[in-house]
Amino acid sequence: MQAALLDWFAAHGRDLPWRRRYLPYEVWVSEIMLQQTQMERGVAYFRRWMERFPDLEALAAASEEDVLHAWEGLGYYSRARNLLAAARRIRDEHGGIFPGDPGAIAALPGIGPYTTAAIASIAFGLPVACVDANVARVLARVFDVDEPVKEKGAAARIAALAAEILTPGRAREHNQAMMELGALICGRKPRCGACPLADFCLSRHLGIVHERPVPGRRADVVALNVVTGVLRHAGHVFVQKRCDRGAWGGLWEFPGGRVEPGEEPARAVVREHAEETGFAVRITDDYGIIRHGYTTYRVTLHCFGVELAAWDGPRDAGGLPVPPVLTAASACRWVRPHELQTLAMPAAHRKLADRIFAPVLDEPGRPA
Ligand code: SF4
Repeated sequence: MQAALLDWFAAHGRDLPWRRRYLPYEVWVSEIMLQQTQMERGVAYFRRWMERFPDLEALAAASEEDVLHAWEGLGYYSRARNLLAAARRIRDEHGGIFPGDPGAIAALPGIGPYTTAAIASIAFGLPVACVDANVARVLARVFDVDEPVKEKGAAARIAALAAEILTPGRAREHNQAMMELGALICGRKPRCGACPLADFCLSRHLGIVHERPVPGRRADVVALNVVTGVLRHAGHVFVQKRCDRGAWGGLWEFPGGRVEPGEEPARAVVREHAEETGFAVRITDDYGIIRHGYTTYRVTLHCFGVELAAWDGPRDAGGLPVPPVLTAASACRWVRPHELQTLAMPAAHRKLADRIFAPVLDEPGRPA
């Protein structure tokens, strides 16, 4: 079985940029990037990332703003902040050399048991088995695991099976081969006819391939109704930086929030501006709806353009109004529309910015 698996991987494994040199930095970034990200998209982001931060030293010296900007569009931004924090810790505590000891790898920010095993085996060749969703699916089918793979007992059994079949001295290839098999052959619709493990697969012999893995309980999808308003004043746009914790922490956005039950979206956007910034605004434009989803949420974002209803409060050095409060952000700025391109923004707000300002984004001199 091991020979069949490794031969198949040698012949069919994809040529991916981090598989050329197996540098710990590249393996680590690829593993973090590929969590929740499709391979093609992950490869494009990986190449751009390596141009911008070619090694640990470059990443450790980068600003959070730069790192979040490079990550923009991948979501789950705590992954980017953890990459930066870990790079700085490796620089400060490990002399800039990526640690090869699993205990030290696991102690780095943002690295859980799976990523520890992946780095230890793929970058350092240590005999540790990796179990991601792909591997769990393959093992559940090959060994006919008859419980949902996330249930405690099944997860322990799968971990034990993964360790038991690990090819001695070939952990790097073996782990990648198992993951690749799950991604390319033994996916949601298994292609058993092309599978190197077909002769060894219990589910196939029993004719129950489509009953494995046993499905787990599905998380309920929650619908969210939210609003946002693009506040413009004297050729500038108001943006605020989300607090570090929580979804999209550290990213720049237009103020907004959830619509209360029974509330009109247009009223909600005026209320949200008052609550988050103290600015009294009125609606100038309706920019329509942007729909998007994350984790188990399905979001309907109602988008508006707004202007200040009146202003006699303090102004900054450039003569722009200073918000009396900032309750949902750690910082705020008035920017020219073309400057929005340089800020890291959540995908829905980026879409909105493009929708409104795309024609002027490349013209720094043109007013909003
Ligand atoms: S034979 Fe089919 S079900 Fe079994 S491991 Fe291969 S692709 Fe998956």
